[in-house]
Amino acid sequence: MPADRHITVIGAGLAGALLATLLAQRGWKVDVYEKRGDPRVKGYAGGRSINLALAERGRHALRLASGDDEVMEQAVMMRGRMVHFRDGRTDLQRYGKDDSEVIWSVHRGDLNIVLLDIAEQAGARVHFHRSLDGVDFDARVATFTNDIDSSTHAIGFNALVGADGAGSALRAAMARVSDLGERTDFLGHSYKELEIPPAPDGGFSIEPNALHIWPRGRYMCIALPNDERTFTVTLFLPNEGDPSFATVRNGTEARALFERDFADALPLIPNLEEDFERNPAGLLATLYLDRWHLDDRAVLIGDAAHAMVPFHGQGMNCAFEDCVALADHLDRAPDLTTAFAAFQAERLPNARAIQQMALENYLEMRDRVDDDDYLLQRALELRLAERHPDRFMPRYAMVTFQRMPYAVAFERGQQQRQLLVDLTRGHTTLDTLDWDTVDATVRERLTLLPRD
Ligand SMILES: Cc1cc2nc3c(=O)[nH]c(=O)nc-3n(C[C@H](O)[C@H](O)[C@H](O)COP(=O)(O)OP(=O)(O)OC[C@H]3O[C@@H](n4cnc5c(N)ncnc54)[C@H](O)[C@@H]3O)c2cc1C
Repeated sequence: MPADRHITVIGAGLAGALLATLLAQRGWKVDVYEKRGDPRVKGYAGGRSINLALAERGRHALRLASGDDEVMEQAVMMRGRMVHFRDGRTDLQRYGKDDSEVIWSVHRGDLNIVLLDIAEQAGARVHFHRSLDGVDFDARVATFTNDIDSSTHAIGFNALVGADGAGSALRAAMARVSDLGERTDFLGHSYKELEIPPAPDGGFSIEPNALHIWPRGRYMCIALPNDERTFTVTLFLPNEGDPSFATVRNGTEARALFERDFADALPLIPNLEEDFERNPAGLLATLYLDRWHLDDRAVLIGDAAHAMVPFHGQGMNCAFEDCVALADHLDRAPDLTTAFAAFQAERLPNARAIQQMALENYLEMRDRVDDDDYLLQRALELRLAERHPDRFMPRYAMVTFQRMPYAVAFERGQQQRQLLVDLTRGHTTLDTLDWDTVDATVRERLTLLPRD
């Protein structure tokens, strides 16, 4: 390890600020360079999704950084998916067995502020208005530009950590000197954010403790609660076809879409036209890299290494797990190259697994949550989880409420899915199943679950 145990982090977003905290708490000297201004001074200027679902993996990382209590003060519990059918019916599909298995809606800006506070309290130094422009890896000098006065700053480093998000400038600099095996798969769908304000009495205008979904086949809307009694609504549509962002181009067309497909949501969004026209459509893509580090000089974490589509609500949770893993490897390894290589070996297969599960979840959310086969398999899944808690756990629970490696959850999820398909074949209700055969099949086909 470099004698002064000094690390330079690019990006003070979610992953950068958390990693800075974990390393500073372990005695590392940490400097973080962030392109934007300090959100504590000028108000949060994040243009992306306003709230995020926080799950056990993320909470575990926050606990290690002593940030969980503060974050949870502002979090809103989401017990399950509240599905809004076309005919106006709703159905709450619980995520877990009880309120010990829930997810939490947190405000991105507030979370970032808590993370910056704890990073600085731990001793990390955060430099705002410093946008990484270029890196001379041989001289170990990084160049930053200040967006206010356009001044440039050259900084020497031991090693850089790229926590600068999906459009990472550090990744681009690394790719100029080494082939990272980069590939981006665009989903062909984009998203737009809208808002449900508080009800006239100041409370929530729909059930607050749920993630609301309006599944409509090729597209959908979701809404997550904020603690100021609003909901952030996200409309996901294909880029082409009908309807799509090519046919729904302005507020009037958005209103027509909502009148037809999201009729019960429409009265809740009084500023639909304005929100639709003001907010940009965000692209959705999965970023794959074969290499995350450049020997001992640079490593990528979070979205910079493995941006994913948001349908499992795990991008941030996964990024937080990266931070814990990297801090552990940096503490244990004899040198930076070994630490970065071990980090990549541990995390890359897991990132691939959650990227795949996030893609699969889009289909499930928009097209399957109101489908009869799915509902029967889901009912059996819950019964099997009760009858065989040591062998069967719904994949969603393995990803969301447990910390077993994503790759393990993915593989077990595939075995379980096949089991559910086989056991429900030819049935329309669970009442006709032979439970002795079901139990024997579970014991034969599923090994004992790993526990955290
Ligand atoms: C619509 C949507 C919904 C989502 N919902 C969820 C969810 O419910 N749950 C969940 O876990 N995840 C969710 N995610 C994913 C989550 O937002 C990301 O995985 C997470 O923000 C990644 O954190 P990060 O720190 O790697 O990157 P970012 O949060 O993007 O932070 C990157 C930071 O680097 C800074 N930066 C960028 N370029 C430079 C530069 N050149 N120099 C210096 N600094 C720079 C940026 O200003 C920013 O502060 C969602 C994503 C989207 C798009």
